[in-house]
Amino acid sequence: MELKKIAVVGAGTMGNGISQVLSVAGLEVVMTDVAAAQLERATETISGSLERLIKKEKMTAAEKSAVMGRIRTSTDIGAIGDCDLVIEAATENLELKLKIFAQMDKIARKEAVIATNTSSISITRLAASTGRPDQVIGMHFFNPVAMMALVELIRGLQTSDATFAAVEALAKKVGKSPVQVRNSPGFVVNRMLCPMINEAIFALAEGLATAAQIDEAMKLGANHPIGPLALCDLIGLDVELAVMQVLYEGFKDPKYRPAPLLVDMVEAGYLGRKAKRGFFSYG
Ligand code: NAD
Repeated sequence: MELKKIAVVGAGTMGNGISQVLSVAGLEVVMTDVAAAQLERATETISGSLERLIKKEKMTAAEKSAVMGRIRTSTDIGAIGDCDLVIEAATENLELKLKIFAQMDKIARKEAVIATNTSSISITRLAASTGRPDQVIGMHFFNPVAMMALVELIRGLQTSDATFAAVEALAKKVGKSPVQVRNSPGFVVNRMLCPMINEAIFALAEGLATAAQIDEAMKLGANHPIGPLALCDLIGLDVELAVMQVLYEGFKDPKYRPAPLLVDMVEAGYLGRKAKRGFFSYG
Protein backbone atom coordinates (compact mmCIF):
# COMPACT_ATOMS: atom_id res chain seq x y z
CA MET A 1 0.00 0.00 0.00
CA GLU A 2 1.77 3.19 -1.16
CA LEU A 3 0.40 6.47 0.17
CA LYS A 4 0.74 9.05 -2.62
CA LYS A 5 -2.09 11.51 -2.26
CA ILE A 6 -2.40 13.01 1.19
CA ALA A 7 -5.00 15.22 2.85
CA VAL A 8 -4.27 17.33 5.92
CA VAL A 9 -7.35 18.38 7.93
CA GLY A 10 -6.66 21.50 10.01
CA ALA A 11 -4.22 24.11 8.66
CA GLY A 12 -2.88 25.60 11.90
CA THR A 13 0.69 25.49 13.26
CA MET A 14 1.06 21.76 12.74
CA GLY A 15 -1.14 21.32 9.65
CA ASN A 16 0.80 23.81 7.56
CA GLY A 17 4.15 22.36 8.66
CA ILE A 18 3.02 18.84 7.82
CA SER A 19 1.68 19.96 4.41
CA GLN A 20 5.01 21.65 3.68
CA VAL A 21 7.18 18.60 4.40
CA LEU A 22 4.86 16.32 2.40
CA SER A 23 4.92 18.60 -0.64
CA VAL A 24 8.69 19.19 -0.43
CA ALA A 25 9.03 15.39 -0.64
CA GLY A 26 7.08 15.44 -3.92
CA LEU A 27 3.65 14.36 -2.68
CA GLU A 28 0.30 15.83 -3.74
CA VAL A 29 -1.38 17.49 -0.74
CA VAL A 30 -4.84 18.83 -0.12
CA MET A 31 -5.03 21.01 2.98
CA THR A 32 -8.49 21.66 4.45
CA ASP A 33 -9.73 23.83 7.29
CA VAL A 34 -13.09 25.21 8.40
CA ALA A 35 -11.59 28.72 8.36
CA ALA A 36 -10.64 30.21 4.97
CA ALA A 37 -8.40 32.72 6.78
CA GLN A 38 -6.41 29.85 8.31
CA LEU A 39 -5.83 28.36 4.85
CA GLU A 40 -4.59 31.72 3.58
CA ARG A 41 -2.32 32.13 6.59
CA ALA A 42 -1.03 28.56 6.17
CA THR A 43 -0.21 29.17 2.50
CA GLU A 44 1.64 32.38 3.44
CA THR A 45 3.53 30.60 6.22
CA ILE A 46 4.66 27.81 3.87
CA SER A 47 5.64 30.33 1.20
CA GLY A 48 7.67 32.35 3.74
CA SER A 49 9.38 29.24 5.03
CA LEU A 50 10.37 28.14 1.49
CA GLU A 51 11.56 31.68 0.76
CA ARG A 52 14.01 31.36 3.67
CA LEU A 53 15.30 28.11 2.11
CA ILE A 54 15.88 29.98 -1.18
CA LYS A 55 17.86 32.68 0.69
CA LYS A 56 20.01 29.95 2.23
CA GLU A 57 20.44 28.46 -1.27
CA LYS A 58 18.80 25.22 -0.17
CA MET A 59 15.98 25.55 -2.71
CA THR A 60 15.50 27.27 -6.10
CA ALA A 61 12.58 29.55 -7.04
CA ALA A 62 11.43 26.91 -9.55
CA GLU A 63 11.42 24.23 -6.83
CA LYS A 64 9.44 26.53 -4.57
CA SER A 65 6.75 27.06 -7.19
CA ALA A 66 6.56 23.29 -7.77
CA VAL A 67 6.13 22.72 -3.99
CA MET A 68 3.43 25.40 -3.76
CA GLY A 69 1.74 23.94 -6.87
CA ARG A 70 1.37 20.53 -5.22
CA ILE A 71 -0.65 21.99 -2.31
CA ARG A 72 -4.38 22.52 -2.93
CA THR A 73 -6.55 24.11 -0.27
CA SER A 74 -10.26 23.80 0.47
CA THR A 75 -12.75 24.74 3.17
CA ASP A 76 -14.78 21.70 2.08
CA ILE A 77 -13.77 18.46 3.80
CA GLY A 78 -15.23 16.70 0.73
CA ALA A 79 -11.87 17.49 -0.92
CA ILE A 80 -10.26 14.55 0.96
CA GLY A 81 -12.35 12.04 -1.01
CA ASP A 82 -9.66 10.73 -3.37
CA CYS A 83 -6.74 10.64 -0.91
CA ASP A 84 -4.79 7.55 0.24
CA LEU A 85 -4.05 9.05 3.65
CA VAL A 86 -5.82 11.73 5.69
CA ILE A 87 -3.82 13.34 8.51
CA GLU A 88 -6.06 15.07 11.03
CA ALA A 89 -4.30 18.08 12.63
CA ALA A 90 -7.24 20.09 13.95
CA THR A 91 -7.65 21.73 17.37
CA GLU A 92 -6.94 19.44 20.36
CA ASN A 93 -10.46 18.71 21.61
CA LEU A 94 -12.01 15.24 21.94
CA GLU A 95 -15.55 16.18 20.89
CA LEU A 96 -14.26 18.07 17.84
CA LYS A 97 -11.94 15.23 16.83
CA LEU A 98 -14.77 12.68 17.14
CA LYS A 99 -16.88 14.86 14.85
CA ILE A 100 -14.06 15.19 12.30
CA PHE A 101 -13.33 11.45 12.50
CA ALA A 102 -16.97 10.69 11.63
CA GLN A 103 -16.71 13.02 8.60
CA MET A 104 -13.37 11.59 7.47
CA ASP A 105 -14.63 8.02 7.86
CA LYS A 106 -17.65 8.83 5.71
CA ILE A 107 -15.81 10.75 2.98
CA ALA A 108 -12.40 9.07 2.61
CA ARG A 109 -12.04 6.06 0.27
CA LYS A 110 -12.60 2.81 2.13
CA GLU A 111 -8.93 1.81 1.58
CA ALA A 112 -7.64 5.14 2.91
CA VAL A 113 -5.65 5.34 6.12
CA ILE A 114 -6.69 7.91 8.73
CA ALA A 115 -3.92 9.35 10.90
CA THR A 116 -4.11 11.89 13.71
CA ASN A 117 -1.47 14.30 15.01
CA THR A 118 -3.10 14.45 18.47
CA SER A 119 -0.71 14.99 21.39
CA SER A 120 -2.91 13.52 24.08
CA ILE A 121 -6.09 11.82 22.86
CA SER A 122 -6.24 8.00 22.80
CA ILE A 123 -5.67 6.57 19.30
CA THR A 124 -7.61 3.45 20.31
CA ARG A 125 -10.61 5.60 21.19
CA LEU A 126 -10.52 7.61 17.95
CA ALA A 127 -10.05 4.39 15.93
CA ALA A 128 -13.04 2.77 17.64
CA SER A 129 -15.25 5.66 16.50
CA THR A 130 -14.71 4.68 12.84
CA GLY A 131 -15.76 1.75 10.68
CA ARG A 132 -12.09 1.09 9.84
CA PRO A 133 -10.28 0.92 13.22
CA ASP A 134 -7.44 -1.19 11.75
CA GLN A 135 -6.66 1.68 9.32
CA VAL A 136 -6.28 4.34 12.03
CA ILE A 137 -2.92 5.38 13.50
CA GLY A 138 -1.29 8.22 15.43
CA MET A 139 1.26 10.25 13.48
CA HIS A 140 2.70 12.64 16.06
CA PHE A 141 4.90 15.27 14.45
CA PHE A 142 6.89 17.77 16.51
CA ASN A 143 6.97 21.54 16.27
CA PRO A 144 8.46 23.06 14.10
CA VAL A 145 7.64 20.22 11.73
CA ALA A 146 10.20 21.11 9.05
CA MET A 147 13.04 21.09 11.63
CA MET A 148 12.21 18.20 13.94
CA ALA A 149 13.35 14.74 12.85
CA LEU A 150 11.02 12.62 14.98
CA VAL A 151 7.56 11.29 14.19
CA GLU A 152 6.04 9.07 16.87
CA LEU A 153 3.89 6.44 15.14
CA ILE A 154 1.29 5.39 17.67
CA ARG A 155 -0.46 2.09 17.27
CA GLY A 156 -3.95 1.87 18.69
CA LEU A 157 -5.01 -1.56 19.93
CA GLN A 158 -6.65 -2.13 16.53
CA THR A 159 -3.99 -0.70 14.14
CA SER A 160 -2.98 -3.32 11.54
CA ASP A 161 0.58 -4.17 10.53
CA ALA A 162 -0.21 -3.07 6.95
CA THR A 163 -1.37 0.36 8.16
CA PHE A 164 1.72 0.75 10.31
CA ALA A 165 4.07 -0.31 7.50
CA ALA A 166 2.50 2.09 4.97
CA VAL A 167 2.69 5.07 7.33
CA GLU A 168 6.21 4.17 8.45
CA ALA A 169 7.35 4.10 4.80
CA LEU A 170 5.74 7.49 4.20
CA ALA A 171 7.39 9.03 7.27
CA LYS A 172 10.79 7.87 6.03
CA LYS A 173 10.05 9.11 2.51
CA VAL A 174 9.46 12.64 3.82
CA GLY A 175 12.79 12.53 5.67
CA LYS A 176 11.56 11.85 9.19
CA SER A 177 12.76 9.24 11.67
CA PRO A 178 9.73 7.31 12.90
CA VAL A 179 9.64 5.61 16.30
CA GLN A 180 6.93 3.04 17.01
CA VAL A 181 4.98 3.63 20.21
CA ARG A 182 2.02 1.85 21.81
CA ASN A 183 -1.06 3.92 22.59
CA SER A 184 -0.59 5.30 26.11
CA PRO A 185 -1.02 8.72 27.77
CA GLY A 186 1.66 11.14 26.55
CA PHE A 187 3.15 8.51 24.21
CA VAL A 188 6.97 8.58 24.73
CA VAL A 189 8.31 12.11 24.41
CA ASN A 190 5.66 13.99 26.39
CA ARG A 191 5.62 11.21 29.01
CA MET A 192 9.30 11.91 29.78
CA LEU A 193 9.65 15.58 28.89
CA CYS A 194 6.63 17.07 30.67
CA PRO A 195 7.30 15.44 34.09
CA MET A 196 10.90 16.72 33.88
CA ILE A 197 9.62 20.27 33.31
CA ASN A 198 7.03 19.80 36.09
CA GLU A 199 9.82 18.72 38.46
CA ALA A 200 11.78 21.85 37.58
CA ILE A 201 8.71 23.90 38.60
CA PHE A 202 8.47 22.05 41.93
CA ALA A 203 12.18 22.79 42.48
CA LEU A 204 11.63 26.48 41.68
CA ALA A 205 8.67 26.69 44.07
CA GLU A 206 10.73 25.06 46.85
CA GLY A 207 13.40 27.72 46.41
CA LEU A 208 16.00 25.11 45.47
CA ALA A 209 17.45 27.59 42.99
CA THR A 210 16.29 30.48 40.79
CA ALA A 211 14.72 29.86 37.36
CA ALA A 212 17.93 30.97 35.66
CA GLN A 213 20.04 28.71 37.91
CA ILE A 214 17.81 25.67 37.33
CA ASP A 215 18.03 26.16 33.55
CA GLU A 216 21.77 26.79 33.66
CA ALA A 217 22.30 23.62 35.72
CA MET A 218 20.31 21.44 33.31
CA LYS A 219 22.03 22.92 30.26
CA LEU A 220 25.53 22.39 31.66
CA GLY A 221 24.90 19.25 33.70
CA ALA A 222 22.61 17.30 31.38
CA ASN A 223 23.79 18.81 28.10
CA HIS A 224 20.30 20.02 27.21
CA PRO A 225 20.24 22.75 24.53
CA ILE A 226 17.59 24.69 26.49
CA GLY A 227 16.67 24.68 30.19
CA PRO A 228 13.37 23.09 31.33
CA LEU A 229 11.77 26.39 32.39
CA ALA A 230 12.68 28.24 29.17
CA LEU A 231 11.37 25.20 27.29
CA CYS A 232 8.11 25.38 29.23
CA ASP A 233 7.79 29.05 28.25
CA LEU A 234 8.28 28.01 24.63
CA ILE A 235 5.74 25.17 24.75
CA GLY A 236 3.21 27.23 26.71
CA LEU A 237 2.44 26.72 30.40
CA ASP A 238 -1.19 25.87 29.53
CA VAL A 239 -0.03 23.09 27.18
CA GLU A 240 2.39 21.74 29.83
CA LEU A 241 -0.47 21.73 32.38
CA ALA A 242 -2.83 19.98 29.94
CA VAL A 243 -0.28 17.20 29.30
CA MET A 244 0.35 16.73 33.05
CA GLN A 245 -3.40 16.45 33.60
CA VAL A 246 -3.64 13.80 30.86
CA LEU A 247 -0.79 11.82 32.48
CA TYR A 248 -2.25 12.22 35.99
CA GLU A 249 -5.75 11.17 34.94
CA GLY A 250 -4.49 8.46 32.58
CA PHE A 251 -2.26 6.68 35.12
CA LYS A 252 -3.91 7.81 38.39
CA ASP A 253 -0.37 8.02 39.75
CA PRO A 254 0.48 10.97 42.05
CA LYS A 255 3.94 11.23 40.52
CA TYR A 256 2.27 13.04 37.62
CA ARG A 257 0.45 15.66 39.73
CA PRO A 258 0.89 19.13 38.21
CA ALA A 259 3.04 21.46 40.30
CA PRO A 260 0.75 23.93 42.16
CA LEU A 261 2.93 26.83 40.93
CA LEU A 262 2.25 25.74 37.32
CA VAL A 263 -1.52 25.78 37.97
CA ASP A 264 -1.21 29.20 39.65
CA MET A 265 0.76 30.70 36.77
CA VAL A 266 -1.71 29.39 34.18
CA GLU A 267 -4.55 30.91 36.20
CA ALA A 268 -2.68 34.23 36.25
CA GLY A 269 -2.32 34.12 32.46
CA TYR A 270 1.48 33.79 32.60
CA LEU A 271 1.51 31.32 29.74
CA GLY A 272 5.10 31.78 28.55
CA ARG A 273 6.42 33.39 25.37
CA LYS A 274 3.00 33.80 23.78
CA ALA A 275 1.91 35.93 26.79
CA LYS A 276 5.35 37.62 26.97
CA ARG A 277 5.59 36.33 30.53
CA GLY A 278 6.22 32.92 32.01
CA PHE A 279 9.20 31.79 34.08
CA PHE A 280 11.12 34.49 32.20
CA SER A 281 10.01 37.83 30.66
CA TYR A 282 9.94 38.46 26.92
CA GLY A 283 9.92 41.73 24.98
P1 NAD B 1 -3.82 25.22 15.84
O1 NAD B 1 -4.78 25.84 16.76
O2 NAD B 1 -2.64 26.01 15.36
O3 NAD B 1 -4.61 24.74 14.50
C1 NAD B 1 -5.80 24.00 14.55
C2 NAD B 1 -6.55 24.23 13.24
O4 NAD B 1 -7.69 23.36 13.22
C3 NAD B 1 -7.09 25.66 13.07
O5 NAD B 1 -6.63 26.18 11.84
C4 NAD B 1 -8.61 25.47 13.07
O6 NAD B 1 -9.30 26.40 12.21
C5 NAD B 1 -8.71 24.05 12.54
N1 NAD B 1 -10.00 23.42 12.78
C6 NAD B 1 -10.84 23.55 13.84
N2 NAD B 1 -11.95 22.82 13.66
C7 NAD B 1 -11.82 22.19 12.45
C8 NAD B 1 -12.65 21.32 11.70
N3 NAD B 1 -13.84 20.93 12.15
N4 NAD B 1 -12.19 20.88 10.50
C9 NAD B 1 -11.00 21.29 10.02
N5 NAD B 1 -10.17 22.12 10.70
C10 NAD B 1 -10.60 22.57 11.90
O7 NAD B 1 -3.37 23.86 16.52
P2 NAD B 1 -1.99 23.04 16.34
O8 NAD B 1 -1.02 23.53 17.35
O9 NAD B 1 -1.62 23.02 14.89
O10 NAD B 1 -2.45 21.59 16.81
C11 NAD B 1 -3.11 20.70 15.96
C12 NAD B 1 -2.97 19.30 16.50
O11 NAD B 1 -1.58 18.96 16.57
C13 NAD B 1 -3.53 19.09 17.91
O12 NAD B 1 -4.11 17.81 17.97
C14 NAD B 1 -2.29 19.18 18.78
O13 NAD B 1 -2.43 18.45 19.97
C15 NAD B 1 -1.26 18.54 17.88
N6 NAD B 1 0.14 18.91 18.14
C16 NAD B 1 0.50 20.21 18.39
C17 NAD B 1 1.85 20.52 18.60
C18 NAD B 1 2.29 21.95 18.83
O14 NAD B 1 3.42 22.16 19.28
N7 NAD B 1 1.47 22.95 18.52
C19 NAD B 1 2.82 19.51 18.54
C20 NAD B 1 2.43 18.20 18.25
C21 NAD B 1 1.08 17.91 18.06
